[in-house]
Amino acid sequence: ATAARQSLKIGMLPADGIGREVLPGAKAAILALGSSIPKTEFIDLLAGFEYFTKTGTALPDETVEILKNECDCALFGAVSSPSRKVTGYSSPIVALRKKMDLYANIRPVKSVSVNPEGKPGVDLVVIRENTECLYVKQETQTVGEHGKEARATRLITERASRRIGELAFKMALERPRKHLTVIHKSNVLSITDGLFRETVRAVPTLPGVDGKYDDVTVAEQLVDSAVYRLFREPEIYDVMVAPNLYGDILSDAAAALVGSLGLVPSVNAGDSFVMGEPVHGSAPDIAGQNIANPLAAIRSAAMMLRHIGYGDGANRIERAVDSVLREGKILTPDLGGKSKTSEVVDEVTKRI
Ligand code: ATP
Ligand code: MG
Repeated sequence: ATAARQSLKIGMLPADGIGREVLPGAKAAILALGSSIPKTEFIDLLAGFEYFTKTGTALPDETVEILKNECDCALFGAVSSPSRKVTGYSSPIVALRKKMDLYANIRPVKSVSVNPEGKPGVDLVVIRENTECLYVKQETQTVGEHGKEARATRLITERASRRIGELAFKMALERPRKHLTVIHKSNVLSITDGLFRETVRAVPTLPGVDGKYDDVTVAEQLVDSAVYRLFREPEIYDVMVAPNLYGDILSDAAAALVGSLGLVPSVNAGDSFVMGEPVHGSAPDIAGQNIANPLAAIRSAAMMLRHIGYGDGANRIERAVDSVLREGKILTPDLGGKSKTSEVVDEVTKRI
């Protein structure tokens, strides 16, 4: 991830619903950076539930090939989740995480003053391990003496815990407070969560680290008490790192703290690829009306750029978003405003 590129190719996967309305906003924000990033090409790629209903596949091989062979990074819009099980359908975002080895889901959550429903003082990042834990989906059901018995395997490996731990320390070091909280439940699950906890905590002692993380303060917390404190005093958290299931729950809980889903960005990151993705879904209730909040998608584009080495460009986009929010005049209805998606995008790009 160095910034020494001649040109930049970004795969665009708008997929379903408001994904198609917010991704153009992210593109406009990147283009507004002008010559401060390399010449950028956007490659439109197919995926999604609607594509599945037409073709029988939610993620064509060609999309994956192009992402792997041609793109430096990608942006995903949103995918509709069918309300009941549809035969042959599986989520393209889950498949992409697997196929591109995007082992980390990184979700920053930050308070905004314009949102009366949100809590003030929140500025944290949840880093969720994305490949294992209970999500290895090895479930069985048998019949025992007292009826049905269902079991699931929970896999925690040293390798996955170490790479998510390294990423967490790196992110903590880049942030002003440099504070990392390791989330686990090793008082009960001493072997699995014990391995996660020990491996993450041992990152500063790995060969080659050489005191790089000396400025990072590390705390740890049991997941139940972390949820309690997240709601009572979210301001104590900076970077939180967790195994897959706890991270899944914590990152949605953290997003709820700031009010609208339309504000919360994320990236799915691996060692060689990163994909930005707003946290919200396809929002069928507001799709097609040009009222979806594009800021989560725009912030996801900024995170993606920072991840591949364009921190200055990312800062410019984020500052523009923050100033639009602070001013509070041009906002979509989810934030109490009357503006259209495209008006918010225009306002952000003007400020970039
Ligand atoms: P999906 O099955 O795709 O997840 P959903 O109905 O769960 O669809 P979400 O996108 O998860 O929809 O959204 C939940 C609620 O938040 C909806 O009422 C939706 O309108 C609102 N919402 C989500 N994203 C945005 C956004 N970007 N701007 C405004 N409102 C949003
Ligand atoms: Mg949803």
